[in-house]
Amino acid sequence: TRTPVNVTVTGAAGQIGYALLFRIASGHLLGPDVPVNLRLLEITPALKAAEGTAMELDDCAFPLLRGIEITDDANVAFDGANVALLVGARPRTKGMERGDLLSANGGIFKPQGKAINDNAADDIKVLVVGNPANTNALIAQASAPDVPAERFTAMTRLDHNRAISQLAKKTGAAVSDIKRLTIWGNHSATQYPDIFHAEIAGKNAAEVVADEQWLADAFIPTVAKRGAAIIEARGASSAASAANAAIDHVHTWVNGTAEGDWTSMGIPSDGSYGVPEGLISSFPVTVKDGKYSIVQDLDINEFSRKRIDASVKELTEERDAVRELGLI
Ligand code: NDP
Repeated sequence: TRTPVNVTVTGAAGQIGYALLFRIASGHLLGPDVPVNLRLLEITPALKAAEGTAMELDDCAFPLLRGIEITDDANVAFDGANVALLVGARPRTKGMERGDLLSANGGIFKPQGKAINDNAADDIKVLVVGNPANTNALIAQASAPDVPAERFTAMTRLDHNRAISQLAKKTGAAVSDIKRLTIWGNHSATQYPDIFHAEIAGKNAAEVVADEQWLADAFIPTVAKRGAAIIEARGASSAASAANAAIDHVHTWVNGTAEGDWTSMGIPSDGSYGVPEGLISSFPVTVKDGKYSIVQDLDINEFSRKRIDASVKELTEERDAVRELGLI
């Protein structure tokens, strides 16, 4: 039998945590034959709620779930962690300036990065979901000098999945016929969903759509503002779809991309496509044997270039702001 994989989830008692944990425990994160130990990190006042979720996990009698530990101590939560899903974050509240938001999150992600550095397993893979995800990932990574930088990633898979779904609706194609879509840049309103290299049943997606106005005025803003539309409709933020995307991100990172396809991940830039080295930005990536690589040599047209640059500019500003705050 395989040794269990240690999976740490922060903000475990939150909405996304509730949608995430049951799928991890049932084998959707790593595979149907991989046993898991769950480590739930919460702030002290939310420990009791996390215990309630753990009771429900017990009651599912998941064959793959070997143990659950609940703690408010990051050193305990990340001890021996192989996979870390950093979901808990300080949400932006009314009247909060960006600097306040970044420093509040610095107070969370800096110590978590250090705890990962000091306690996690050598093969640790980190996915940051909590917003602002890209910059939170950068803060955690900067506090983990002994962990290879590329192990810190940020989630843009929900944007990726949303874009695929919108494109399928527009063209009447099946979701499974759409390949090679890319989200570039920041997981924010400036993100750029790129269909110029995407394929629909083997045909170029931009040529199938043949409607630049739809791209600019409908597709891109619909994908970028989908989170707000869901809050408006549901009266609560997207949780199940965010959890699903976190599962997809890690599953792909561990198990690889399909031949001929790629996915989108927020990863430390190596300077590709003019994105300054070290920024955690979303790129098209292929994954093989647990390692991702940026898809190279794509032609970037003017339409795409200015949108990628705008999102990267925002990431640069966020990095400069956390640098000024002494968080990285
Ligand atoms: P959620 O579980 O709904 O969201 C958690 C984080 O995910 C937020 O930062 C949220 O960003 C982000 N997120 C990323 N993508 C999406 C998406 N597509 N849709 C919605 N959210 C997205 O928040 P809850 O308030 O329910 O739960 C947070 C939990 O985290 C609480 O239990 C709290 O106690 C805990 N927490 C733990 C900390 C720790 O472990 N040290 C620190 C702080 C909180 P956005 O704000 O933009 O919606």
